[in-house]
Amino acid sequence: MNNNHQIETLLNNKNLDPTLRTIAAKVSNQERISFDEGVFLYENADLPYLGTLADYIRNKRHGDLTYFNRNFHIEPTNICVYDCKFCSYSRMIKQREEGWEMDVDGMMDIVKKYDGEPVTEVHITGGVVPKQNLDFYADFFRRSKAHRPDLHIKALTPVEYYYIFKKAKLSHYDGMKYMQEAGLDSMPGGGAEIFHPEVREKIAHDKCTAEQWLDIHEQAHKLGMRSNATMLYGHIEEFWHRVDHMERLRQLQDKTGGFQAFIPLKFRNKDNQMSDIPEVSVVEDLRNYAIARIYMDNFDHIKAYWAMISRNTAQLSLNFGVDDIDGTLDDTTKIYSMAGAEEQTPAMSTQQLVKLIKDVGRKPIERDTLYNVINDYTDFEFEEEVKPKFYSLPVINS
Ligand code: SF4
Repeated sequence: MNNNHQIETLLNNKNLDPTLRTIAAKVSNQERISFDEGVFLYENADLPYLGTLADYIRNKRHGDLTYFNRNFHIEPTNICVYDCKFCSYSRMIKQREEGWEMDVDGMMDIVKKYDGEPVTEVHITGGVVPKQNLDFYADFFRRSKAHRPDLHIKALTPVEYYYIFKKAKLSHYDGMKYMQEAGLDSMPGGGAEIFHPEVREKIAHDKCTAEQWLDIHEQAHKLGMRSNATMLYGHIEEFWHRVDHMERLRQLQDKTGGFQAFIPLKFRNKDNQMSDIPEVSVVEDLRNYAIARIYMDNFDHIKAYWAMISRNTAQLSLNFGVDDIDGTLDDTTKIYSMAGAEEQTPAMSTQQLVKLIKDVGRKPIERDTLYNVINDYTDFEFEEEVKPKFYSLPVINS
């Protein structure tokens, strides 16, 4: 049964709750759902219903295409002046012996490791330390661009920028302009966590506020840069906090149009100050992706980080609104493995990622950071076949 038939079936279901029917009609008519309807979905909608709506929207926007990119990460330090309660990654300044702190040469060594490799993006994020300041990053951006101009630099979040600009006594706009002139191309979506102060003050009390996070993205968008946005879900927040978070992003996106992808991040509970909180189920992960796809009507892409949720769940998520799977990674990030993700050495070859996407009937499209198509792998045959591994998707309303 195709997506149109599935939504018709929902609309014709006399037993469907009236609010769920109204929401389904809005989705079918490409109308925006309200804050209260978003909360209603979290509280009342089951997985098959949500999957039908989210997949309908994803299919309207992207058809059979699923995107991925070839990237590597640099995490310049895991030492951090901040004290986020959910963080499994950072070592505080006083635990310096357990940490690493790279210099610009060390970061350039990583960039040079990829010389001649067909990666298109370096993704940079990590902790916040005084030494890695404005000049440090500007120097790295310049050297990276001089060495490899075509490598897209997607670097640092408002958490780092807020700290760096404050120390350098620069406004958010002037700071972002300086970074852009040094070689910064775009910003990843991290550090957003949950915006509402009721939650933010409990889990991330000392880093940038929601307003500061949003303003730095707004300034980047004004300068023509694109960025992503995340949401850390599944801990102490209530459903309405999630909707509040998405609402703030939706409003900024109405204003600037600068966001590309929304990336829900699952709270993992290993080795952090919130380890007593159980993790949410895979069903809740999928419900959350689907509601994000339904609510964020002005975001082009919903992205899953397979390294965080496991490649199996990432594959499932493609039926619940996700159209983008990040990325080949090449075992260059520790953030998710240290938080307890199933993937302890996250690396997937392009061949494996392509296979993962093809196995659920989608067309794997390699993109660059700005979603320009680099390669369509639909009919591409790799010389050496990886062992087949099939995951079946749940069948919805058919
Ligand atoms: S989440 Fe980021 S800002 Fe917070 S403690 Fe960890 S590394 Fe530092």
